[in-house]
Amino acid sequence: MPQSSQNPANQRGFAAPQVAFQPDVQPRREQPGFGQPRAQRERGGLIGKLHTCCEVFIILAMSEIEHPGFPANDASAHANLNAAELAALAIAIRQWASELGFSALTIGEAGVLPHMGEGLRRWLAAGCHGDMDYMVRHASVRIHPVELMPSVSRVISARMPYWPDAAPAAGVLGNGALAYVSRYALGRDYHKVVRARLQKLLERITRTVPVNARVFTDSAPVLEAEFAQRSGLGWRGKHTLLIARDPGPPSSSGSWFFIGEILIDLPLPVDAPVPNHCGRCTACLTACPTGAIIAPYQLDARRCISYLTIEHPGSIPEPLRPLIGNRIYGCDDCQLVCPWNRHAPQSVEKDFAVRNGLDCASLVSLFAWDEAEFLQRTAGSAIRRIGHERWLRNIAVALGNAPKSPEHLAALRARAGDASALVREHVHWALGRQGA
Ligand code: SF4
Ligand code: SF4
Repeated sequence: MPQSSQNPANQRGFAAPQVAFQPDVQPRREQPGFGQPRAQRERGGLIGKLHTCCEVFIILAMSEIEHPGFPANDASAHANLNAAELAALAIAIRQWASELGFSALTIGEAGVLPHMGEGLRRWLAAGCHGDMDYMVRHASVRIHPVELMPSVSRVISARMPYWPDAAPAAGVLGNGALAYVSRYALGRDYHKVVRARLQKLLERITRTVPVNARVFTDSAPVLEAEFAQRSGLGWRGKHTLLIARDPGPPSSSGSWFFIGEILIDLPLPVDAPVPNHCGRCTACLTACPTGAIIAPYQLDARRCISYLTIEHPGSIPEPLRPLIGNRIYGCDDCQLVCPWNRHAPQSVEKDFAVRNGLDCASLVSLFAWDEAEFLQRTAGSAIRRIGHERWLRNIAVALGNAPKSPEHLAALRARAGDASALVREHVHWALGRQGA
């Protein structure tokens, strides 16, 4: 599960349910901006006047505006914007985000809330980050975006749905001869897609007003989900990922989305957090195969299959291997059972379409890939980041959990002398499970 994809394990585990939420009284679709108004220029202002006609604001597209008051390359010039102009710009930014494929965009303060640091410090102190030592090294920066960008005043968070048109997850998970790949990783690498779109969004902003800004999606030590929650992009579910509740149609509710953010020095009006709608549900805690959700809103990454198959570089602890089943890259179980995903939309992004039949490939066929084939078939995919050795390690575990068969045995025997000690060790474990 990612959530920047939402999700990498590095974004999880330190949600703070104790946050005092302020109810967002407006349904998301009714909040200003999404799919709605456009800005009008009048006598050089970002907006001069909002026309109301049949109760609909008609504002001309800001993207067509060049603000005559801004000298080129003078980012401080936006200090001249008044509150109404900033509000109009926020509306236009949401409209541009919608045009670029984001399902929602919210704006929050960049300053730190006390719970953010406390939650992360507790999580790190308990060792829940596993081998992700960079989490410790960058802890301060995660909590303080100002250390990444001294002039930052707002964090703009945006989400983009990714659920692809793929083989039904339950069917793949129920067939031990098949490989389950987390649904976010079946298409093009989300880092590339989301970052490129955010970059385009930033370009549209800078065509209107000069700003200092930086774009991120799981590419820098930023508490992405925390900042996204703070500005009302969704709430953090008991599985620690962000969930959205959008009225439809069309609805973009659920958690199958990536998030990314723009750190910006523009004092745009901020959005309020939304209430948590988990209620008494505990479906994700019950469904987690490894018990990684140790309590509501607390994830121990060391037990999370997403962490074990992607982030963890070494040997997978033996007691956890049987629990991994056929999940060879990530895990979606806590999201698959979440009631908020029942009516989640399918992504229309071609970039997230399934590549190379990875939605329901056999373990044996994937285990046969040599490194060159792995690199060629995973080019442009997030999967490539784990490398061929971890790929084989993960599939060996899945083959150890697969139904006993001559085909599985033969595939494992063919790798028993692999050059990698890590792969050999997992293959030998799997051979034992296959009764060899
Ligand atoms: S179900 Fe458990 S193991 Fe799977 S991604 Fe969620 S927390 Fe991790
Ligand atoms: S499964 Fe239930 S408890 Fe878990 S995140 Fe979804 S609504 Fe919340």
